[in-house]
Amino acid sequence: MRTRVIRTFLTLGFVLAAAALLALDAYAAGSNPALWYPLLVITGVILLLGGLLTFLFLRTFSRQTAELKSYAERLLDPLASGEQLPAGKDDLGDLARSLQRMAPRIRELVENLKLENARREAILASMIEGVLAVDKDLRVTFCNNSFARAVGARIPVHPGAPLLELVRDPGLLEIMNGVLTTGERSEHRLTLPAAADHTFEVLAGPLAGPSTRGALAILHDVTELERLERVRKDFVANVSHELRTPLAAIRGYAETLLDGALQDEKHNRKFVEIIEAQATRLSNIASDLLTISELESNGNARPPQPQPVPVRSVAESALRTVESAARVRGVHLVCGQIDDAFVLGSELRLEQVLVNLLDNAVKFNRPNGEVHLEALEVDGAVRITIRDTGIGIPSEDLPRIFERFYRVDKARSREMGGTGLGLSIVRHVIEQMNGSIKVYSQLGVGSEFIITIPALG
Ligand code: ADP
Repeated sequence: MRTRVIRTFLTLGFVLAAAALLALDAYAAGSNPALWYPLLVITGVILLLGGLLTFLFLRTFSRQTAELKSYAERLLDPLASGEQLPAGKDDLGDLARSLQRMAPRIRELVENLKLENARREAILASMIEGVLAVDKDLRVTFCNNSFARAVGARIPVHPGAPLLELVRDPGLLEIMNGVLTTGERSEHRLTLPAAADHTFEVLAGPLAGPSTRGALAILHDVTELERLERVRKDFVANVSHELRTPLAAIRGYAETLLDGALQDEKHNRKFVEIIEAQATRLSNIASDLLTISELESNGNARPPQPQPVPVRSVAESALRTVESAARVRGVHLVCGQIDDAFVLGSELRLEQVLVNLLDNAVKFNRPNGEVHLEALEVDGAVRITIRDTGIGIPSEDLPRIFERFYRVDKARSREMGGTGLGLSIVRHVIEQMNGSIKVYSQLGVGSEFIITIPALG
């Protein structure tokens, strides 16, 4: 292009010089016509030499500019890094030398930018939070996979895709539109149906580049946080509810006694017995809550060092603990085969598990019923089975009996001094021992709880 400008300029100059020389010739020959011929020859020779020089200059100039052009175009090519430019002592040579001096710095700058870009992309891609950037026309300029998954879009999302095609949720579109119009940061909570109804905390803000305007949003999944918050609230409500009943009974019977029932020989003992039973219940609730809290905090803190636990002695001790309750209810305790196996965990906790299960099997049994316990070592695992001939558990309640405070028959459980926390503790302990628990039950026939824990050695 540049060569072409110079070529035109030189050609024009050449034509003008030729015209001027011919005009001078004509002027000189006007007074002496004999001069025409020699003047024309001299002009011809001058023009010929001038033309030749111009041609040679243009050829060299074109070659040098072509070399500079191709060097500049391959400046970022690592293979061309060692290439030398022929540099003369003229202006073009100066230009070539400064280009050569600049080349490594430009290459380094571009490499740094590439590295920085790759680093940022890797960070954004590995983020759990969804990241979305749009331009002023609500076209996606960047989004990571977490965002694409949250809105149910196909991965990878190509830059330039309209956000409207990607997101069907009007809430998110409104947020981005709002930021683009007001240019202000905003915070929202959104539930996205495309993300299996997960709830997100959306932080959106303007994104201003040197020549562009857009918006950026970060989506933080708070579904689990909300669930935990709900669980916590339910738990507090349940605990207060559980405490209220025995406290009300204690208060009621104490007031009755103070109001004169103390002298009522026929009833006063019964009232005191009720107060004692309710106080025992309160104490049971408190100790079960303490156990649950300890088990749950072990999830965060370091659990106590597991020890080898002898299954036989634990099972025998648990049977001894529920012996008297079984006798009172007329339930037979049958000890089946107990293998001399060991498991890893806490002896105290495993005994608590067996006592809870045996106690339930006795409590929810019928007079003259039976509770059978066995512990066998099978295929590297200890399988402890507690079977009863009790009332059974309705199939619709089976999946929920391990939840805190869940009881099939609330009145019956309370009457038996139950807290509704026993099975929740059982599941916690077994899971901490890397084991599992299953339950099979038939209404009116009985229930069977099977614990499987990895055997030691
Ligand atoms: P609870 O203190 O009421 O015994 P658990 O958590 O130990 O609480 O048990 C939860 C509920 O599961 C009980 O209230 C009862 O309805 C049912 N359940 C547990 N074990 C048995 C069983 N062996 N037979 C019948 N129902 C049972």
